Amino acid sequence: MTVRARAELDRIAPYVPGSRACLPGGELASNESPVGPSPTVGPAITRILGSVGRYPDPLADEVRETLADLHHVHSDQILVSNGADELIYLLLWAFGGAGSGVVTADPSYRLPEICAYLASAEVVKVPLIDWRLDLRAMALVDADIAYICNPHNPTGTALDSAAVEVFVEATKAKLVIVDEAYVDFADHPEDISLLPGKVAEKVVVLRTLSKVYGLAGLRIGYLVGDPALIATLRKIRPPFSVNVAAQAAAVAALGDQEHRNSVRAYVKECRTRLTDLLRSHGYRVVASQASFVLVETDDSATFVARLAEAGVAVRRGEDLNMPGTVRITVPSPKGFQMLVDALDGDGATSSCESPRKSAV
Ligand SMILES: *Cc1c(COP(=O)(O)O)cnc(C)c1O
Repeated sequence: MTVRARAELDRIAPYVPGSRACLPGGELASNESPVGPSPTVGPAITRILGSVGRYPDPLADEVRETLADLHHVHSDQILVSNGADELIYLLLWAFGGAGSGVVTADPSYRLPEICAYLASAEVVKVPLIDWRLDLRAMALVDADIAYICNPHNPTGTALDSAAVEVFVEATKAKLVIVDEAYVDFADHPEDISLLPGKVAEKVVVLRTLSKVYGLAGLRIGYLVGDPALIATLRKIRPPFSVNVAAQAAAVAALGDQEHRNSVRAYVKECRTRLTDLLRSHGYRVVASQASFVLVETDDSATFVARLAEAGVAVRRGEDLNMPGTVRITVPSPKGFQMLVDALDGDGATSSCESPRKSAV
């Protein structure tokens, strides 16, 4: 007889990850970096090969100190994690629980919803308006935890930090999770982010090294928030969740801000070209501040199949609770050409220049 899991888990639909492309350059389903990590990352990982027999530093102090400098906060305000995803699990476990409520947007990044059910919490999903978070309606929901993704996944829209601060004041939620996974790609991140100075006591800001720093495969992210809240999370986190390779890679990647800046510049530039390309083919595209664009199609299955034939994998809106749409990661120059070819050539005058290679 099959072992029966907790009844709460019946509410969780399985997570559908982005599909893998058949051709290199065509991996446009999972918002991975089109450029990859800093060239300093490889040597940094090689250097730790002699110490893989030892447990990692539990709190990743070197990473924390580097981040504290970068964000002008104290290192006690930072918790480094096995991807931002781990933080979503920990936060919902620690602050959710039976009888509690979580408010999120519909659609939004799905993990908070999954973790809410895992924590036996109830979930209220507030529909977007014009592809944007409806913060006013979200503030009216009687919830204990609010999840705000800014810029928003899967639409790419962004709200000014001032609007988020108004929400933080207005909501009754005792914890506001602000997920800034894509903030580096915004035209003006300083207008959108709550970092460094706008993190109220009940707010945590989530960041990841998976996106602009290109370390998705190593799993490292972090939270900026109140030290007392971090102390609570430390009680329940797996003590060694951030491995030695991830820590070494993070220090190297964070130390190469020139590479980070060139990735950011490339993504912004290519996002414009991608948007123009799709619009020139008659598609409606949501104006994006992230490293992907959301495309409205009349027939997403045909659109996805056409791209798949050309070796390009994208994310189906059906999997993101937005039927009819398709989410496309900003591609590398090669991926861009594959899209041009797949869309039938007449956008072929446009191209994405290779990002400038930063010195090793
Ligand atoms: C990619 C992503 C994350 C997860 O980042 P990891 O650090 O790879 O776990 C979190 N939130 C959003 C909105 C994302 O798109």
